[in-house]
Amino acid sequence: MRGASGALGAMGTGAQNLRHHTASPLAYSRFERVAWPVSSGAMSGLPDRVRLVIFDLDGVVYRGNEPIPGARELVEFLHLAGVAVRFATNNSMVARAGYVDRLGSMGIGAGIDEIVTSTSATVEHLRRHAPDVHAVLAIGADGMRAELLEAGLEVTMAGDAAFAAHDGGPLDQRYDAVLVGLDPEVDYRRLAVAMSAVTGGASLIATNADARYPTPSGFLPGAGSILAALATATGVLPEVIGKPSPAMFAAAVEASGIDPREAVVVGDNPDADVAGAHRAGLTAILVLTGVADAATAAALEGERRPEATAAGPAEVRVLLAKRLS
Ligand SMILES: [Mg+2]
Repeated sequence: MRGASGALGAMGTGAQNLRHHTASPLAYSRFERVAWPVSSGAMSGLPDRVRLVIFDLDGVVYRGNEPIPGARELVEFLHLAGVAVRFATNNSMVARAGYVDRLGSMGIGAGIDEIVTSTSATVEHLRRHAPDVHAVLAIGADGMRAELLEAGLEVTMAGDAAFAAHDGGPLDQRYDAVLVGLDPEVDYRRLAVAMSAVTGGASLIATNADARYPTPSGFLPGAGSILAALATATGVLPEVIGKPSPAMFAAAVEASGIDPREAVVVGDNPDADVAGAHRAGLTAILVLTGVADAATAAALEGERRPEATAAGPAEVRVLLAKRLS
């Protein structure tokens, strides 16, 4: 099993990786709902007053191992202004502490409560909307296991439950939910035991449905590819937490206690960050330091069109500075 730092390192460096990686046929949710009413006014511009800023990470705060110039200063500025800050990533493989370390190595001071991974958002979502879920069967990496255990869930990793002679019959244990993240060692037996858990009554919940993710050399299959196998096998429509499903941003805002009308998402990906923000009833600033260039940004329409576009962190600061009082 790859260690946390190795898994994080594998998430890629370099501009060549900053291409769309969230497009997925499985980016839907059984609970694809707007968590609060969206007034038409809220979509016409940024909020007059901003008290919560949710940053995407790759392409916004850093590119691979390189911090994006001005990002550290922007985060410091918001911290000093008393604005709540969150860093939200669809990555399910690395526990939040790994991101505290990574940001710290770039000079960005972030507390663990400011980190939102698709696994921690799944935990938060379950806590608020499915409190009866205790026993979970998880397909995922070590970082996911650590987060689930820390949340007090009764966790069985699919790799530990899988056995060679499993013939599709009932499992010894009943699970409330099967949680799907990215498992770089997924195999047929893990899929088989997860399928049996679902057919035995467990709900099917995915940390994210990313079809693929970038590496320095290209792309590897993402959690959504594993999810597609399970959804196909079981015929069950999964509930998806990560961007662009609204559940991840909704969980982050709910946990902050801040009015969603005072929250802004800052992201580089129109498909994941901007659409995800809008589906959660939030506004979004698109930065051009990642997957989208100015021409792409100018052509965006519908839910992918942000309330504002910024060349980089310095322009985000200008946009936010007049909205902090
Ligand atoms: Mg990004």
